[in-house]
Amino acid sequence: MRVFEETESQVRSYCRGWPAVFVRSKESHIYDESGKPYLDFFAGAGALNYGHNHPVLKNALIEYLTDDHIVHSLDMYTEAKAGFLETFRELILRPRGLDHKVQFPGPTGTNAVEAALKIARKFTGRTTIARFTNSFHGMTLGSLAVTGNGAKRHGAGVPLEHTLTLPFDQYLDGSTPDLLWLRRLIEDSSSGVGLPAAVIVETVQGEGGINVASPEWLRALAKLCEEHAMLLIVDDVQMGCGRTGPFFSFEEAGVVPDIVCLSKSLSGYGLPFAVTLLKPELDIWEPGEHNGTFRGFNPAFVTATAALEEFWRDTSLHERVAAHGSLVDDELRRIAAEHPDAGTDVRGRGLARALSFDDPMVAGVVCRNAFERGLLLETAGSEDEVVKLLPPLTTSREELETGLSIVGESVRAARKELA
Ligand code: PMP
Repeated sequence: MRVFEETESQVRSYCRGWPAVFVRSKESHIYDESGKPYLDFFAGAGALNYGHNHPVLKNALIEYLTDDHIVHSLDMYTEAKAGFLETFRELILRPRGLDHKVQFPGPTGTNAVEAALKIARKFTGRTTIARFTNSFHGMTLGSLAVTGNGAKRHGAGVPLEHTLTLPFDQYLDGSTPDLLWLRRLIEDSSSGVGLPAAVIVETVQGEGGINVASPEWLRALAKLCEEHAMLLIVDDVQMGCGRTGPFFSFEEAGVVPDIVCLSKSLSGYGLPFAVTLLKPELDIWEPGEHNGTFRGFNPAFVTATAALEEFWRDTSLHERVAAHGSLVDDELRRIAAEHPDAGTDVRGRGLARALSFDDPMVAGVVCRNAFERGLLLETAGSEDEVVKLLPPLTTSREELETGLSIVGESVRAARKELA
């Protein structure tokens, strides 16, 4: 451990909660240097929806590398890029009636968001982006400006401006319609707030604590955007690629965003890869106006294409996520019922699930206990008061049951410890 403490920056974070050195991983398990297995219910913060080292994706990658195909190519035309675009169009865009153009920004989620914000401002000629309480969109300055987390914002060192904060679904008292505030602001010429260029939203706020927007709320938001010519940006970086069931998390609500941000599990293999999808009329970029060296990493095109072929030719993954999601929900409710005085809340959609506690200390202790028992779990929420479950979508029923029984034990142990 010494080399990390002596040499790596203080900014390191996840490793602090999981003090082990990891050497191997396979499907839903990751192994430390002593060979101890951990069930991974974090899945690379949603970057490993298809598990670790999926054999079909791995073989596609090995073959590609062994045959000396192109690895780096800026945004030149390559066979691997053509393969990805054709497969993405055939299996994802067309069946959903989407005709969005595919922009390759840099390879991370925040790159996809920056591109979205920039094109929204360029297209509308307006500067403000509306965003929601408890949102998370990334760490670069534009994305950070539309992110809620106070500690992360503090790190910016400059004012984070040109945004408008709005209450997310159910943020207020439950009796005030949440979108009323936005409607009033933009319809009152004396509100002092100009019309935003766009609204950026997560359908389920991942880092914010697995806060789920209802389909009705999302539809009302999409309608309001349309009525006032504000662009709707859905940040599907964490909830896309099947995390909530369908490929895109907004499909259930039946809305069509103007712009969609995808990354994390898009490569399927944990390789860095992101896209920003734009309705065709928004694609008014000048060539090279939004540039970058690592846009379109060919090995990621190859594994992404293999993942689409493997998981999105039929609806079996979608159905599995729905069934396993309700199994996790049932079990979390059972655990919550064991602790009627803990102020628990169980929420989520698909295989993005959460158990929150009134006392923000509990969730952290639950995660530490789970680690000791061989389960990786992370906290989320503004005060880290939420235990978040993001197992790979390919996790078996038995593995889910094993993990959930460790969650139950870890909650019991945490409450005893904190009593
Ligand atoms: N948007 C959402 C919804 C996210 O969850 C994240 C990452 N947690 C990001 C954007 C930023 O992605 P990245 O860390 O790859 O920049």
